[in-house]
Amino acid sequence: MTQPFEGKVALVTGAAAGIGEATARAFADAGASVMLSDINQEAGEQVAAAINEAGGKAAFIRCDVIKAGDVKHLVDQTVEQFGRLDFAFNNAGVELERNKLADGNEDVFDAIMDVNVKGVWQCMRHEIPVMVDAGSGVIVNTASVAGLGAAPAMSIYSASKHAVVGLTKSAAVEYGRRGVRVNAVCPAIIDTDMLRRAIEEDPRKEEVHKNMHPIGRIGQPQEVAAAVLYLCSEGAGFTTGVALPLDGGYTAI
Ligand code: NAD
Repeated sequence: MTQPFEGKVALVTGAAAGIGEATARAFADAGASVMLSDINQEAGEQVAAAINEAGGKAAFIRCDVIKAGDVKHLVDQTVEQFGRLDFAFNNAGVELERNKLADGNEDVFDAIMDVNVKGVWQCMRHEIPVMVDAGSGVIVNTASVAGLGAAPAMSIYSASKHAVVGLTKSAAVEYGRRGVRVNAVCPAIIDTDMLRRAIEEDPRKEEVHKNMHPIGRIGQPQEVAAAVLYLCSEGAGFTTGVALPLDGGYTAI
């Protein structure tokens, strides 16, 4: 049976773990060739190898999304190795922050903005021309529910994810007529290393996180992956400029 993304090519940043890893695996399961990238080379190569061993098509390139040269190399190599670029999941992101706003420091501000905002901008800047030339393409950026509202003790992170939503909506409007759709996913709390790091620092967060979602549990990375694949599918052909909450009802309250 033909798979839905047979013959398509997907690029994923932050693909060595968590949401990026789950989405890279889901793209491969749906028949796409997947270019994984991350700063964690060892883990990223392991995920790509596991996809290939399971019968999928994957490769890994180390890419720090802060660096323009790395991102250009990633996009160029994706097209070189797989022949095209249909889907880009710009997902690499960092949290890093544990303070209220007035206790924050400039280094942390710059580090978060560099990866979360400049990284997504940098990726789109190199992906969009390839998609415009082809006359089609879909980009999904990872924002957060912190990009739709407040995130106490994570104000810089929240600002960075609001910026991702702004970049997403602007690019969607600018390139809609050129065949490129651009959307964002806005997860609430998802079961990844990012969450585990937060709970290690403050174990009370486990219960708080579970209870903040009306659905009564945290989310799974595969549930974000499923939404990313939907946004890339033809079924979402009329959907662009959307910041889609994946939040167990959190933003409905
Ligand atoms: P994670 O820490 O498990 O994975 C993030 C991956 O990004 C890691 O493999 C890391 O090495 C990579 N990365 C970090 N900096 C990078 C850089 N400069 N260049 C390339 N790769 C880099 O985290 P996750 O939970 O899977 O997070 C993925 C995305 O989802 C992030 O953008 C995060 O902000 C967002 N998000 C996560 C949650 C959550 O609860 N886990 C909720 C909302 C949004």
